[in-house]
Amino acid sequence: MSNNKRLRIAIQKSGRLSKDCQNLLKQLGVKLNLREQRLIAHATNMPIDVLRVRDDDIPGLVMDGVCDLGIVGENVLEEVQAERRNSSASFAVKKLAKLDFGYCRLALAWPQELGAQDKQWFNGKRIATTYPEILSQYLERENIDASVVMLTGSVEVAPRAGLADAICDLVSTGATLEANGLMQGDTILESNACLIQNQELADDDKLALIDKLMPRLRGVKQAKE
Ligand code: ATP
Ligand code: ZN
Repeated sequence: MSNNKRLRIAIQKSGRLSKDCQNLLKQLGVKLNLREQRLIAHATNMPIDVLRVRDDDIPGLVMDGVCDLGIVGENVLEEVQAERRNSSASFAVKKLAKLDFGYCRLALAWPQELGAQDKQWFNGKRIATTYPEILSQYLERENIDASVVMLTGSVEVAPRAGLADAICDLVSTGATLEANGLMQGDTILESNACLIQNQELADDDKLALIDKLMPRLRGVKQAKE
């Protein structure tokens, strides 16, 4: 548990979610002094500390109570939850809100020259992905007997490099797939960024602060609609 009296929020340090997270905090009225290299940024007008980490670490930090809140893609949240379900680590979190940024799809793709394929084509094939748990669940659900190759980066070059027959990767516009000569198939998961809270958070002051921020968050969302 975090014994710090200040509300700790984990956000992505640098990447696709960082700018939107910083903007959201700003719109919520949290004044931050973000100096580039700092791990922790202290808010100057509220008892809030912002931890800037890799997105993959955010669900675990919130599940373990190291941080009280976190902003992370549902894709990463689901993968970490599935991973932790297989161990003794805690995996429960409270999802406070789905946010209106960070949209992407986790989709299957294969070399364009193979043309259109149905699900049965994947039987006996190797599929490269950064999301082995989500992919395995999908394969099980669909009764597909394929093997999963875990890669943490450059998934889209795996077929060309002979590492896999197909991939399961995040897509937003499809431009990366096209640039790599891949054809997009089924979407396995649609994802947005979301705000999560540690399930066991019981500090009254922190809960009161969250209660104060939530209506502002809804206000920001409405203003955009
Ligand atoms: P980190 O260094 O924090 O681990 P990363 O390279 O894993 O960063 P990013 O590429 O910055 O992560 O993506 C962060 C999140 O942004 C993704 O997990 C996903 O939720 C979301 N996202 C939105 N669009 C895309 C996209 N086209 N490709 C990948 N992620 C996307
Ligand atoms: Zn990451």
